[in-house]
Amino acid sequence: MLFFFGTRASRIKQTQLAGNTSCPYCEQQNTFIATTFGRYFHIFWIPFIPISKTTILECSHCKKSYTENEVPVSIKTSLQRDEELNPTKRPIWHGCGCLLIVAIIFITIITSIMGYLFNKDEIDASLNDTRREYLERDINNTTAYPERAKDTISTTLKSCISLSIEGIDTDEIRYLSKINDTKLLVILKVSDMKNIAASSRKELVYAAEECLEYIDTGKANEIYIAVDGNYNMLMVKTPYEKDLGGRFADESLLLPFYSSRAEETVIETTKEESSN
Ligand SMILES: [Zn+2]
Repeated sequence: MLFFFGTRASRIKQTQLAGNTSCPYCEQQNTFIATTFGRYFHIFWIPFIPISKTTILECSHCKKSYTENEVPVSIKTSLQRDEELNPTKRPIWHGCGCLLIVAIIFITIITSIMGYLFNKDEIDASLNDTRREYLERDINNTTAYPERAKDTISTTLKSCISLSIEGIDTDEIRYLSKINDTKLLVILKVSDMKNIAASSRKELVYAAEECLEYIDTGKANEIYIAVDGNYNMLMVKTPYEKDLGGRFADESLLLPFYSSRAEETVIETTKEESSN
């Protein structure tokens, strides 16, 4: 049977005892060698806690050995003097398991504090993301009557979608389109979606996509479509991800339209058309 924990001992000090001592057995003078053993508790042979110390005295002449309690007072005194001059020191490894545990606890605490601070920064950054302000502003700027001169894509989309959707009062849909380099954002704000089952709402996104195929969007070929409801974003489709459940879409999926990083600012990008 194996024991994975218990106690062990190791030699921690050895000295030739000074002073006038004589062996009680062979009566030789100054023959004692004092050896101190340190006992420690181990788990899986990893020393954990130092426990006790024992000193054994051995006569180098007759090889008889004694414990501290078995020798005469004069030898005890020599031993004490020796201990005062050259105190026994426990090696640090006798408690290395404890040190290890303390180190692990310390590292765990530090990493969780670091993790907390790091996440806090990330959360703060996402809440303070200026791109959310741009999106909020664009949603507020949607209009049911887009002007051809200001937003050609929206005017074309409005006439196209009016022909294709049943069940929605398409006159009530508000539009906004924006181009940022090769990216096109189309926002549709719909206030009367409640009579349409959530699963059927994505038809509106598909209709918008289909219409966009016939609309000249210049070099903008990465399309971001957002359908906003009365209280929250209902659906989002981007070149990378989509959320077409029809109830609560994650509007942060739209943020890459504005820029890849929050610090970058976006200039007014509404497509100005001088022709038409
Ligand atoms: Zn002896």
